[in-house]
Amino acid sequence: MPKGTVRFSEERCKGCGLCVEACPKHIVALDARRINAKGYNPAYVTEMEKCIACGFCAMMCPDVVIRVDRS
Ligand code: SF4
Ligand code: SF4
Repeated sequence: MPKGTVRFSEERCKGCGLCVEACPKHIVALDARRINAKGYNPAYVTEMEKCIACGFCAMMCPDVVIRVDRS
């Protein structure tokens, strides 16, 4: 079971990749299959069941795109 839920306000994402670098579990990626309204590949969690809800991804995001809720 995942330890939390990670939500992205995807339309605000600028695809900078800081959250990808920050994740200790290496489960955040930029989605090459999709483009948001700003024209970027938005970040997403690839394997939510591996998330430890550390919040590092949310802390790193300069645009407050990510919200982590512990379960
Ligand atoms: S909360 Fe932590 S483990 Fe979960 S996606 Fe974000 S950085 Fe990765
Ligand atoms: S740090 Fe924020 S703006 Fe940058 S890729 Fe991640 S979610 Fe998008």
